[in-house]
Amino acid sequence: MSAADSRALLWLRRDLRLADHPALLAAADGGARVLPVFVLDEQLWVRAGEPRRALLAGALADLHARTDGALRVLSGDPRTVVPAAARAAGAGRVHVSGEFTPYGRGRDEEVAGRLAAQGVEWVVSGSPYAVSPGRVVKQDGTPYRVFTPYAKAWRQHGWRAPAARPRRVDWAAYDGPHVAPMPDMPAAAGLPTPTEAAAWRTWRRFRDEHLADYARDRDAPGTDATSRLSPYLHLGLIHPRSLLADVAGRRGAGVHAWRTELCWREFYADVLFHRPESAWGNLQPRFDRLAWDDGPDARRRLGRWQRGETGFPIVDAGMRQLAAEGWMHNRVRMITASFLVKDLHLPWQWGARFFLEHLVDGDLASNNHGWQWVAGTGTDASPFVRVFSPLRQAERFDPDGEYVRRWVPELRGLPGKAALEPWNHDAPEYVQRMVDHAEERAEALRRYEAVAGDDG
Ligand code: FAD
Repeated sequence: MSAADSRALLWLRRDLRLADHPALLAAADGGARVLPVFVLDEQLWVRAGEPRRALLAGALADLHARTDGALRVLSGDPRTVVPAAARAAGAGRVHVSGEFTPYGRGRDEEVAGRLAAQGVEWVVSGSPYAVSPGRVVKQDGTPYRVFTPYAKAWRQHGWRAPAARPRRVDWAAYDGPHVAPMPDMPAAAGLPTPTEAAAWRTWRRFRDEHLADYARDRDAPGTDATSRLSPYLHLGLIHPRSLLADVAGRRGAGVHAWRTELCWREFYADVLFHRPESAWGNLQPRFDRLAWDDGPDARRRLGRWQRGETGFPIVDAGMRQLAAEGWMHNRVRMITASFLVKDLHLPWQWGARFFLEHLVDGDLASNNHGWQWVAGTGTDASPFVRVFSPLRQAERFDPDGEYVRRWVPELRGLPGKAALEPWNHDAPEYVQRMVDHAEERAEALRRYEAVAGDDG
């Protein structure tokens, strides 16, 4: 069979785009017919939560249209579905972008093994990262556990130029077993437009309007000054390397700070790659002995936090933004997470699970290591003893109460800074504070004392 008659299955996962796509380029190489498929894996689908499912459904619809209707959604366990599809399609190769999560790696190993037994080539090209997890290691070959030296090594390592677009792709539709209807989940109001074009529009607007001042504005939740690219990066509608290439050679504090944020995403993926058990377990084992609350009262407190009814305006604003938009500003993610862990003494895993279910950008590595960073159980950037005061944080980052009033209507009658401390003003419709922050801070530190210094 000549290359032109050959068939390649392109199994799309977190790479739902056509630009800068090394696996697509490799699949189309030599004029092979490319059969694009996406497997709706029940394991991942049920855990994704509505916002992410809607984004995924929209992104698949976009790709379906842009592959001349060739994209097929298959349903079932990819370990059996992909080898079966390769056989039914008569494909000689299955092309993918590399995957690095604990679940994704295990699954891919099994699929690759089964394909090899069928005589089908498994071809991995690229990954969802500029520098794939596992690539950057210390001189002694061990992984980094601290962000700053990792970031330095990451910059020195550098990344490839974006992949060229294939000159032509000969799309073909797979029509064998396991084909399922395209998922139909209309995007709720407030969610990002789920297309590759929208990802690029979002990027260009941010680049032209906010990037230069990003270092100054990024921590203020009241100004919409961050890129909002996280959902697109998560599902691969845009690749970080494309973004890095677009700002190559640019100088300034804004670009530097923004590149560093992209690097956090890569760092956490790297940490998770080397320590898969840290997805749900403490990266620092001594915290396994820290006392967390449990039982009906703990669950009741969790519910108030989830509903944004803690009585602390900045915490409630964040949780309500999450409910409305499936997204929360990074500074407020830190504040709400700290409140759950250090004011309510609830396990970070409870908060991480809730975030993953409700965030449209929910990403195991960034989310769970973001939580561990705040809880002080993870990479060593934020020690446990650093306890955020919800009031001080609000005074610093939302000094005029703009963000708080946007998301907490009960406080709209309070002008300026008054919205940050409604307990000193007249806000009869707003809930009372559920805890005394000073007391709970002291309690958190008491609990920490019991495990401090114990590295076992
Ligand atoms: P920008 O400020 O424009 O940053 C650009 C990109 O850099 C982001 O899109 C993101 O891909 C990456 N980035 C920025 N900050 C971080 C960070 N601290 N860690 C890792 N990557 C970062 N990010 C997710 O993508 N998914 C999550 O599930 C997630 N959960 C989080 C949970 C907690 C408790 C915390 C503290 C942070 C979490 N983050 C998560 C990181 C961060 O809050 C979001 O990436 C950011 O708010 C997304 O908004 P943006 O695209 O406007 O970011």
